[in-house]
Amino acid sequence: MNIENFQDTINACRFCFMCRHLSAVGNVTFRESDTPRGRALLTGKMQQNIKNLPPDYIDTFYRAELSAANRFHCVSHYDEAGLILAARRDIVEAGLAPENVKTLAAELQKANFKVEGSGSMLYYVDLYSDKANAPKDCKIISGGDTGKALEVLGFVKEAETVWTKFQTAVKASGCQTVVTSCPASYDMMKKRLDSVKVLHIAEFIEGKRGSGSVYYLDSDYLKNYNDNMTAPRDLLKKLGYELKPFGTNGEESYSAGEGAVIYDKLNPELTAKLCERIAELADNPAIDILVTASPYTRSVLNKYVPQLKVLLLDEVAAKGVK
Ligand code: SF4
Repeated sequence: MNIENFQDTINACRFCFMCRHLSAVGNVTFRESDTPRGRALLTGKMQQNIKNLPPDYIDTFYRAELSAANRFHCVSHYDEAGLILAARRDIVEAGLAPENVKTLAAELQKANFKVEGSGSMLYYVDLYSDKANAPKDCKIISGGDTGKALEVLGFVKEAETVWTKFQTAVKASGCQTVVTSCPASYDMMKKRLDSVKVLHIAEFIEGKRGSGSVYYLDSDYLKNYNDNMTAPRDLLKKLGYELKPFGTNGEESYSAGEGAVIYDKLNPELTAKLCERIAELADNPAIDILVTASPYTRSVLNKYVPQLKVLLLDEVAAKGVK
């Protein structure tokens, strides 16, 4: 079983409750099962007899928002996010994926990439981004998720097939640099694209100077999966913005499920709750300006808590805070 590669994490997390306050889903469901400790206890049951795993156990692994905040801030960095992904792979391999997960996976496999436009660099438009935000003089690649979403759902072979299609299209473009606004896609490409330079838009755009204060909501993939990449904060400061701390602490994820890539498509009610918690934590929702580097986070916050003013980092850099 894939989860056996995470035996040290299972052994550590099932007796530990230290990071429960960083469990974004646990903070809105108030269930112990939605914490690393609860999920580690459930993997013990998986190891005993996966075929008889109750559906609500399976559901718990698909409720996880995969922010990886717990792993990032764990003093021993136990890989609780890796354990969830391994559990999902085992569930899929045992033929136990829930119907809604299978339907979503089938949809994601329809990805068909095309490259258009002209330029020496390539800009990838993910499922939540807008082509209008593409930098000038870039070719654009679009047509679906890179395979990252399938990977986090546990469909590893299917993810590989989509990734191969994406990689082939990137190479055929002839571009040596690919840029994206999507932190999850950045994570996938950075780790897997050979001989092509991968940049997040925050590392690329110059931007227009502005002023005033904004709250920056950290991206799970840029912070917790990529060594706390400072580029988004550096860019905002360079452009002249003062960054104010958001929420009750600097460790919790306020991305509303970005770590799970397509969380809103799988768990819309929980996504709404995650967004409502962010709205509740805003100091003054009527006037605060929140900035995110994640098109996913901007999309779900705009949808579920439209009373908040949430701007995408790309747009702040291009147009300023309006
Ligand atoms: S990730 Fe670390 S802090 Fe969290 S439950 Fe596991 S061992 Fe404890």
